[in-house]
Amino acid sequence: MPAPAHDGTMRAMLLDRPNEPLRLARVPIPEPGPEEILIRISACGVCRTDLHIADGELAPHRSPLVMGHEAVGVVVDQGAQARRFAIGDRVGVPWLGGSCRHCAYCATGHENLCDTPSFTGYDRDGGYAEYAAADARYCFALPARYDDVHAAPLLCAGLIGYRAYAMTGDAHRLGLYGFGAAAHIIAQVARQQGKEVYAFTRPGDTRSQQFARELGAVWAGDSTQAAPQALDAAIIFAPLGALVPAALAATCKGATVVCAGIHMSDIPSFPYALLWGERIVRSVANLTRADGEAFFALAQEIDIQTTPVAFALEEANRALAELRAGQFDGAAVLLPGM
Ligand SMILES: [Zn+2]
Ligand SMILES: [Zn+2]
Repeated sequence: MPAPAHDGTMRAMLLDRPNEPLRLARVPIPEPGPEEILIRISACGVCRTDLHIADGELAPHRSPLVMGHEAVGVVVDQGAQARRFAIGDRVGVPWLGGSCRHCAYCATGHENLCDTPSFTGYDRDGGYAEYAAADARYCFALPARYDDVHAAPLLCAGLIGYRAYAMTGDAHRLGLYGFGAAAHIIAQVARQQGKEVYAFTRPGDTRSQQFARELGAVWAGDSTQAAPQALDAAIIFAPLGALVPAALAATCKGATVVCAGIHMSDIPSFPYALLWGERIVRSVANLTRADGEAFFALAQEIDIQTTPVAFALEEANRALAELRAGQFDGAAVLLPGM
Protein backbone atom coordinates (compact mmCIF):
# COMPACT_ATOMS: atom_id res chain seq x y z
CA MET A 1 0.00 0.00 0.00
CA PRO A 2 1.55 3.34 -0.95
CA ALA A 3 1.95 5.37 2.20
CA PRO A 4 0.70 8.96 2.05
CA ALA A 5 3.49 11.35 1.26
CA HIS A 6 5.59 13.45 3.63
CA ASP A 7 5.28 13.55 7.41
CA GLY A 8 1.81 12.10 7.91
CA THR A 9 0.15 15.48 8.19
CA MET A 10 -2.05 17.46 5.86
CA ARG A 11 -3.47 20.93 5.47
CA ALA A 12 -7.12 21.29 6.44
CA MET A 13 -9.57 24.13 6.98
CA LEU A 14 -11.09 23.66 10.45
CA LEU A 15 -14.36 24.99 11.82
CA ASP A 16 -13.86 25.31 15.59
CA ARG A 17 -17.26 26.81 16.30
CA PRO A 18 -20.05 28.44 14.31
CA ASN A 19 -19.76 32.06 13.24
CA GLU A 20 -15.97 31.98 13.32
CA PRO A 21 -13.80 31.88 10.21
CA LEU A 22 -12.37 28.52 9.26
CA ARG A 23 -8.79 28.08 10.43
CA LEU A 24 -6.02 26.69 8.25
CA ALA A 25 -4.16 24.02 10.22
CA ARG A 26 -1.83 21.11 9.78
CA VAL A 27 -3.41 17.97 11.20
CA PRO A 28 -2.71 14.23 10.99
CA ILE A 29 -3.80 12.48 7.80
CA PRO A 30 -6.73 10.27 8.84
CA GLU A 31 -6.24 6.50 9.13
CA PRO A 32 -8.81 4.57 7.10
CA GLY A 33 -10.97 2.25 9.20
CA PRO A 34 -11.73 -1.31 8.05
CA GLU A 35 -14.48 -0.28 5.61
CA GLU A 36 -12.86 3.02 4.65
CA ILE A 37 -10.73 4.39 1.89
CA LEU A 38 -8.23 7.19 2.24
CA ILE A 39 -8.65 9.74 -0.53
CA ARG A 40 -6.24 12.40 -1.69
CA ILE A 41 -8.64 15.25 -2.40
CA SER A 42 -8.23 17.21 -5.61
CA ALA A 43 -11.52 19.17 -5.57
CA CYS A 44 -14.29 19.79 -3.07
CA GLY A 45 -17.46 21.73 -3.76
CA VAL A 46 -18.77 24.37 -1.36
CA CYS A 47 -22.45 23.77 -0.65
CA ARG A 48 -25.08 25.98 0.92
CA THR A 49 -25.35 23.38 3.68
CA ASP A 50 -21.75 24.28 4.61
CA LEU A 51 -22.96 27.83 5.12
CA HIS A 52 -25.76 26.61 7.38
CA ILE A 53 -23.17 24.67 9.43
CA ALA A 54 -20.67 27.54 9.54
CA ASP A 55 -23.42 29.99 10.50
CA GLY A 56 -24.78 27.74 13.25
CA GLU A 57 -28.17 27.24 11.61
CA LEU A 58 -27.45 23.53 11.91
CA ALA A 59 -26.34 22.53 15.41
CA PRO A 60 -22.62 21.63 15.67
CA HIS A 61 -21.96 17.87 15.74
CA ARG A 62 -18.19 17.91 16.22
CA SER A 63 -15.36 20.35 16.82
CA PRO A 64 -13.08 21.01 15.18
CA LEU A 65 -14.79 19.98 11.97
CA VAL A 66 -13.55 19.64 8.41
CA MET A 67 -16.56 20.55 6.27
CA GLY A 68 -17.07 19.54 2.64
CA HIS A 69 -19.33 16.88 1.16
CA GLU A 70 -18.68 17.25 -2.56
CA ALA A 71 -15.18 15.77 -2.46
CA VAL A 72 -13.41 14.26 -5.46
CA GLY A 73 -10.07 12.51 -5.25
CA VAL A 74 -8.03 9.40 -5.73
CA VAL A 75 -7.89 6.37 -3.44
CA VAL A 76 -4.41 6.15 -1.88
CA ASP A 77 -5.01 3.64 0.93
CA GLN A 78 -7.81 1.44 2.21
CA GLY A 79 -8.94 -0.65 5.15
CA ALA A 80 -8.88 -4.44 5.17
CA GLN A 81 -12.59 -4.80 4.33
CA ALA A 82 -12.90 -1.97 1.82
CA ARG A 83 -13.19 -3.71 -1.52
CA ARG A 84 -15.29 -1.50 -3.78
CA PHE A 85 -12.41 0.52 -5.13
CA ALA A 86 -8.75 -0.01 -5.94
CA ILE A 87 -5.79 2.18 -5.14
CA GLY A 88 -5.67 4.86 -7.82
CA ASP A 89 -9.41 4.88 -8.53
CA ARG A 90 -11.15 8.24 -8.71
CA VAL A 91 -14.08 8.49 -6.30
CA GLY A 92 -16.61 11.04 -5.07
CA VAL A 93 -17.67 11.45 -1.45
CA PRO A 94 -21.26 12.68 -0.93
CA TRP A 95 -23.23 14.08 2.00
CA LEU A 96 -24.48 10.66 3.14
CA GLY A 97 -21.27 9.29 4.58
CA GLY A 98 -22.87 6.34 6.34
CA SER A 99 -26.11 4.92 7.70
CA CYS A 100 -26.86 2.38 10.40
CA ARG A 101 -27.95 -0.26 7.87
CA HIS A 102 -30.58 -1.79 10.23
CA CYS A 103 -33.18 0.80 11.27
CA ALA A 104 -36.64 0.65 9.70
CA TYR A 105 -35.64 3.26 7.10
CA CYS A 106 -32.37 1.62 6.12
CA ALA A 107 -34.10 -1.76 5.92
CA THR A 108 -36.60 -0.46 3.36
CA GLY A 109 -34.27 1.45 1.05
CA HIS A 110 -34.81 4.82 2.71
CA GLU A 111 -31.30 5.21 4.07
CA ASN A 112 -31.61 8.95 3.41
CA LEU A 113 -33.98 8.98 6.42
CA CYS A 114 -31.79 6.79 8.68
CA ASP A 115 -32.30 7.48 12.40
CA THR A 116 -28.54 7.59 13.03
CA PRO A 117 -26.91 8.77 9.82
CA SER A 118 -23.34 9.94 9.47
CA PHE A 119 -23.02 12.97 7.23
CA THR A 120 -19.79 13.91 5.51
CA GLY A 121 -18.40 17.25 6.60
CA TYR A 122 -20.81 17.35 9.55
CA ASP A 123 -20.69 14.12 11.61
CA ARG A 124 -17.38 13.09 10.09
CA ASP A 125 -14.60 15.10 8.52
CA GLY A 126 -15.03 16.00 4.87
CA GLY A 127 -13.16 17.41 1.93
CA TYR A 128 -11.90 20.86 2.96
CA ALA A 129 -8.52 19.17 3.38
CA GLU A 130 -5.79 17.44 1.41
CA TYR A 131 -7.01 13.99 2.48
CA ALA A 132 -10.22 12.45 3.80
CA ALA A 133 -11.22 8.99 4.96
CA ALA A 134 -14.63 7.81 3.79
CA ASP A 135 -16.71 4.65 4.06
CA ALA A 136 -16.17 3.07 0.65
CA ARG A 137 -19.72 1.70 0.59
CA TYR A 138 -21.11 5.26 0.40
CA CYS A 139 -18.71 6.66 -2.21
CA PHE A 140 -19.34 6.85 -5.93
CA ALA A 141 -17.41 6.21 -9.08
CA LEU A 142 -17.79 9.36 -11.19
CA PRO A 143 -18.66 9.76 -14.89
CA ALA A 144 -15.47 9.94 -16.92
CA ARG A 145 -16.65 12.88 -19.02
CA TYR A 146 -16.20 15.30 -16.09
CA ASP A 147 -12.82 16.31 -14.72
CA ASP A 148 -12.45 16.60 -10.95
CA VAL A 149 -13.38 20.28 -10.71
CA HIS A 150 -16.47 19.87 -12.85
CA ALA A 151 -17.50 16.64 -11.11
CA ALA A 152 -17.41 18.06 -7.57
CA PRO A 153 -20.68 20.07 -7.78
CA LEU A 154 -22.49 16.98 -9.04
CA LEU A 155 -21.99 15.31 -5.66
CA CYS A 156 -24.54 17.39 -3.76
CA ALA A 157 -25.96 20.18 -5.88
CA GLY A 158 -26.45 17.64 -8.65
CA LEU A 159 -27.38 14.62 -6.64
CA ILE A 160 -29.80 16.11 -4.12
CA GLY A 161 -31.09 18.43 -6.83
CA TYR A 162 -31.82 15.33 -8.87
CA ARG A 163 -33.64 13.66 -5.99
CA ALA A 164 -35.81 16.78 -5.68
CA TYR A 165 -36.33 16.84 -9.44
CA ALA A 166 -37.38 13.18 -9.41
CA MET A 167 -40.12 14.13 -6.92
CA THR A 168 -41.68 16.38 -9.57
CA GLY A 169 -42.50 13.34 -11.72
CA ASP A 170 -43.74 14.14 -15.20
CA ALA A 171 -44.33 17.83 -14.56
CA HIS A 172 -43.74 19.74 -17.79
CA ARG A 173 -43.58 23.32 -16.57
CA LEU A 174 -41.05 23.35 -13.76
CA GLY A 175 -40.33 26.34 -11.53
CA LEU A 176 -36.92 26.62 -9.84
CA TYR A 177 -36.71 29.05 -6.93
CA GLY A 178 -33.15 30.14 -6.17
CA PHE A 179 -30.87 29.76 -9.16
CA GLY A 180 -27.62 28.54 -7.58
CA ALA A 181 -25.50 25.45 -8.05
CA ALA A 182 -28.32 22.91 -7.75
CA ALA A 183 -30.81 24.78 -9.92
CA HIS A 184 -28.35 25.37 -12.72
CA ILE A 185 -27.60 21.65 -12.91
CA ILE A 186 -31.25 20.60 -12.72
CA ALA A 187 -32.29 23.22 -15.28
CA GLN A 188 -30.04 21.50 -17.80
CA VAL A 189 -31.34 18.02 -16.94
CA ALA A 190 -34.95 19.23 -17.19
CA ARG A 191 -34.36 20.96 -20.49
CA GLN A 192 -32.63 17.93 -21.98
CA GLN A 193 -35.70 15.95 -20.98
CA GLY A 194 -37.92 18.33 -22.90
CA LYS A 195 -39.32 20.30 -19.97
CA GLU A 196 -39.86 24.02 -19.64
CA VAL A 197 -37.88 25.70 -16.88
CA TYR A 198 -39.03 28.88 -15.14
CA ALA A 199 -36.26 30.40 -13.00
CA PHE A 200 -37.08 32.61 -10.00
CA THR A 201 -34.20 34.52 -8.41
CA ARG A 202 -33.83 37.02 -5.63
CA PRO A 203 -35.47 40.27 -6.75
CA GLY A 204 -33.28 42.31 -9.05
CA ASP A 205 -30.69 39.59 -9.61
CA THR A 206 -30.61 40.11 -13.36
CA ARG A 207 -27.22 38.40 -13.66
CA SER A 208 -28.60 35.07 -12.36
CA GLN A 209 -31.69 35.54 -14.53
CA GLN A 210 -29.50 35.96 -17.60
CA PHE A 211 -27.50 32.87 -16.54
CA ALA A 212 -30.74 30.88 -16.27
CA ARG A 213 -31.80 31.94 -19.77
CA GLU A 214 -28.39 30.92 -21.14
CA LEU A 215 -28.97 27.48 -19.64
CA GLY A 216 -32.28 27.18 -21.43
CA ALA A 217 -34.88 28.59 -19.04
CA VAL A 218 -37.91 29.73 -21.06
CA TRP A 219 -38.51 32.45 -18.51
CA ALA A 220 -36.49 34.02 -15.69
CA GLY A 221 -37.55 36.71 -13.26
CA ASP A 222 -37.83 37.87 -9.67
CA SER A 223 -39.29 35.50 -7.08
CA THR A 224 -41.83 38.23 -6.30
CA GLN A 225 -43.15 38.12 -9.87
CA ALA A 226 -46.03 35.96 -11.00
CA ALA A 227 -45.12 33.11 -13.31
CA PRO A 228 -46.21 33.71 -16.92
CA GLN A 229 -47.82 30.25 -16.94
CA ALA A 230 -49.18 28.08 -14.13
CA LEU A 231 -46.41 25.66 -13.08
CA ASP A 232 -46.87 21.89 -12.89
CA ALA A 233 -44.26 21.68 -10.14
CA ALA A 234 -41.70 23.81 -8.36
CA ILE A 235 -38.48 23.13 -6.49
CA ILE A 236 -37.36 25.62 -3.85
CA PHE A 237 -33.57 25.66 -3.48
CA ALA A 238 -33.36 28.99 -1.64
CA PRO A 239 -33.64 28.72 2.17
CA LEU A 240 -36.59 31.11 2.39
CA GLY A 241 -39.85 29.84 3.86
CA ALA A 242 -41.75 32.75 2.27
CA LEU A 243 -41.14 31.09 -1.09
CA VAL A 244 -43.46 28.19 -0.18
CA PRO A 245 -46.72 30.16 -0.47
CA ALA A 246 -45.23 32.07 -3.43
CA ALA A 247 -44.50 28.83 -5.25
CA LEU A 248 -47.90 27.37 -4.39
CA ALA A 249 -49.54 30.48 -5.82
CA ALA A 250 -47.64 29.91 -9.07
CA THR A 251 -48.76 26.31 -9.53
CA CYS A 252 -51.70 24.59 -11.15
CA LYS A 253 -53.94 22.05 -9.37
CA GLY A 254 -52.25 18.79 -8.49
CA ALA A 255 -48.80 20.38 -8.46
CA THR A 256 -45.97 19.43 -6.11
CA VAL A 257 -43.76 22.01 -4.43
CA VAL A 258 -40.50 20.43 -3.26
CA CYS A 259 -38.36 22.09 -0.59
CA ALA A 260 -34.85 20.88 -1.40
CA GLY A 261 -32.72 22.56 1.27
CA ILE A 262 -31.68 21.15 4.63
CA HIS A 263 -32.60 24.40 6.36
CA MET A 264 -35.31 26.96 5.66
CA SER A 265 -36.60 30.01 7.50
CA ASP A 266 -40.11 29.72 8.93
CA ILE A 267 -42.90 29.30 6.43
CA PRO A 268 -45.47 32.09 6.87
CA SER A 269 -49.10 31.13 7.26
CA PHE A 270 -51.07 31.18 4.06
CA PRO A 271 -54.67 30.71 2.93
CA TYR A 272 -55.80 27.12 2.52
CA ALA A 273 -56.87 28.00 -1.01
CA LEU A 274 -53.20 27.96 -2.02
CA LEU A 275 -52.93 24.29 -1.04
CA TRP A 276 -56.39 23.31 -2.22
CA GLY A 277 -56.68 21.39 -5.47
CA GLU A 278 -54.51 18.49 -4.34
CA ARG A 279 -51.33 20.50 -4.29
CA ILE A 280 -48.50 18.90 -2.32
CA VAL A 281 -45.74 20.54 -0.31
CA ARG A 282 -42.89 18.23 0.62
CA SER A 283 -39.24 18.25 1.58
CA VAL A 284 -36.40 16.18 0.22
CA ALA A 285 -33.87 14.91 2.72
CA ASN A 286 -30.34 13.83 1.89
CA LEU A 287 -29.77 11.12 -0.70
CA THR A 288 -29.67 7.38 -1.12
CA ARG A 289 -26.91 5.48 -2.89
CA ALA A 290 -29.53 4.50 -5.46
CA ASP A 291 -30.10 8.21 -6.20
CA GLY A 292 -26.40 8.56 -6.82
CA GLU A 293 -26.16 5.60 -9.14
CA ALA A 294 -29.17 6.87 -11.13
CA PHE A 295 -27.92 10.43 -11.32
CA PHE A 296 -24.34 9.60 -12.30
CA ALA A 297 -25.59 7.24 -15.01
CA LEU A 298 -27.67 10.12 -16.38
CA ALA A 299 -24.76 12.56 -16.03
CA GLN A 300 -22.64 10.24 -18.16
CA GLU A 301 -25.30 10.34 -20.88
CA ILE A 302 -25.91 14.06 -21.05
CA ASP A 303 -23.44 16.91 -20.89
CA ILE A 304 -24.06 18.96 -17.76
CA GLN A 305 -22.16 22.25 -17.50
CA THR A 306 -21.40 22.69 -13.81
CA THR A 307 -19.69 26.10 -14.13
CA PRO A 308 -17.23 25.74 -11.22
CA VAL A 309 -15.60 28.80 -9.66
CA ALA A 310 -12.24 27.65 -8.29
CA PHE A 311 -10.70 28.66 -4.98
CA ALA A 312 -7.52 27.45 -3.26
CA LEU A 313 -8.09 25.44 -0.07
CA GLU A 314 -7.01 28.33 2.14
CA GLU A 315 -9.53 30.59 0.39
CA ALA A 316 -12.46 28.61 1.83
CA ASN A 317 -13.63 31.56 3.94
CA ARG A 318 -13.77 33.77 0.87
CA ALA A 319 -15.65 31.07 -1.05
CA LEU A 320 -18.23 30.82 1.74
CA ALA A 321 -18.58 34.62 1.94
CA GLU A 322 -19.11 34.93 -1.80
CA LEU A 323 -21.64 32.10 -1.78
CA ARG A 324 -23.50 33.81 1.07
CA ALA A 325 -23.52 37.08 -0.86
CA GLY A 326 -24.56 35.42 -4.12
CA GLN A 327 -21.53 36.87 -5.87
CA PHE A 328 -21.10 34.20 -8.52
CA ASP A 329 -23.13 31.89 -10.71
CA GLY A 330 -22.44 28.19 -10.71
CA ALA A 331 -20.61 26.38 -7.94
CA ALA A 332 -17.63 27.24 -5.73
CA VAL A 333 -15.01 24.49 -5.68
CA LEU A 334 -11.94 24.30 -3.44
CA LEU A 335 -8.78 22.81 -4.90
CA PRO A 336 -6.80 21.27 -2.01
CA GLY A 337 -4.23 19.86 -4.42
CA MET A 338 -3.15 23.32 -5.61
ZN1 LIG B 1 -30.57 3.49 9.55
ZN1 LIG C 1 -24.71 19.89 -0.01
